[in-house]
Amino acid sequence: MLSFWEKNSFLHHDYIVVGSGIVGLSAACSIKEQDPQASVLVLERGILPTGASTRNAGFACIGSLTELLADLSHSPTPLVLSLLSMRLKGLQKLRERLGDTAIDYRALGSYELISEHELACLEEMERLNTLLYPVLGGNAFSLASHKIGEFGFDKTQVKAMIQNNFEGQLDTGKMMHSLWQYASSLGIMVLTGAEVCSITDSGNDAIVEVNHQILHEKIAFIANKSAIICTNAFAKQFMPNEDITPGRGQVLVTKPIDNLPFKGIFHFDEGYYYFRNYGNRVIFGGGRNLDFATEATTEIAYNPQILAHLQHKLQTLILPNTPFEVDMQWAGIMAFGTTDKMPILKKISPHIVAGVRLGGMGVAIGSLLGDQIYELLNDDSK
Ligand SMILES: Cc1cc2nc3c(=O)[nH]c(=O)nc-3n(C[C@H](O)[C@H](O)[C@H](O)COP(=O)(O)OP(=O)(O)OC[C@H]3O[C@@H](n4cnc5c(N)ncnc54)[C@H](O)[C@@H]3O)c2cc1C
Repeated sequence: MLSFWEKNSFLHHDYIVVGSGIVGLSAACSIKEQDPQASVLVLERGILPTGASTRNAGFACIGSLTELLADLSHSPTPLVLSLLSMRLKGLQKLRERLGDTAIDYRALGSYELISEHELACLEEMERLNTLLYPVLGGNAFSLASHKIGEFGFDKTQVKAMIQNNFEGQLDTGKMMHSLWQYASSLGIMVLTGAEVCSITDSGNDAIVEVNHQILHEKIAFIANKSAIICTNAFAKQFMPNEDITPGRGQVLVTKPIDNLPFKGIFHFDEGYYYFRNYGNRVIFGGGRNLDFATEATTEIAYNPQILAHLQHKLQTLILPNTPFEVDMQWAGIMAFGTTDKMPILKKISPHIVAGVRLGGMGVAIGSLLGDQIYELLNDDSK
């Protein structure tokens, strides 16, 4: 039982975005930047965005040497280069849109830790630098093994270290908060606690139904132009036939550590593990490859085995000589495909578009995908 006023003033919009992660908010901002007169509503099921965008580790990255070599071994080179270019452009867009101060972007250095059995990748470094040069306009990788001792890593496990000149770190919370504020400043309305249960193309518009928690009834929002699905790992609800597998990521953060010996972002094992400094704390995540099956879930919950393993790695490999305490832990949900790492960007029907399946790259490409969603909305050939 909605009121006359609620029906008149809240339900009708030009565009309705479902999901307020980096992609949903970026798409809403791209629409408003290009078409300031359009009315844009974002519907978010959580009180806060509740997927990956507020739950990652704040890495602004284009890919480590072993990750890109692994990608090249099972995907065509043009596709890998295209994704690399998207990551670079997306990060530029994010930084330009919000500003480095607002997101606390810092180029403190980026390094990959190389183990004994990965040493052969060093021989591929120059080949990869040459391959990536036309996209990046510079050499990505250089050897930085001399810093292993300075950073205090366990030398029996870390046999080499590679610096990446195109990566940095940011504050995930500040990034999402400032994106939200920017969206508000453009006049975008974001409603939280609004779990969308169905999206239907009526032929003239899109009908987006939400369960009203208080009235215990479904209310129908209308998108005159389009509804845009930006629910990433949760998108199967609306697109059951798409190749989308959720992938949970576990993360921990330490309490502040006196004389933390390193600063920067660090990866190892093809990007399956990642850690960084946050001031004098360490944020460490990953290990999904230890238990792919359990972690292929949309349930936001701890995996005690993986968290114990992360603590062990922290103790033995990353901080072998430095006492630390874990302050807190959390999990976030990513979305992956079985064939390649490209996001799904598609028109599902004349009034419904989707931009989902961002893998472990949404911080990097999310802002660009927002622009691409806007272009797709205005492309009558598709
Ligand atoms: C631990 C971890 C580490 C990561 N590391 C990196 C990294 O190093 N570099 C990088 O670039 N990326 C990284 N990522 C990935 C990146 O965070 C994601 O790709 C990106 O945030 C996805 O953004 P999104 O907006 O598509 O999805 P999300 O942020 O998941 O947003 C989807 C939103 O949709 C909402 N929603 C779902 N269903 C409904 C519904 N029915 N109705 C209304 N709302 C709904 C959810 O609550 C959620 O807020 C990492 C992610 C995690 C979890």
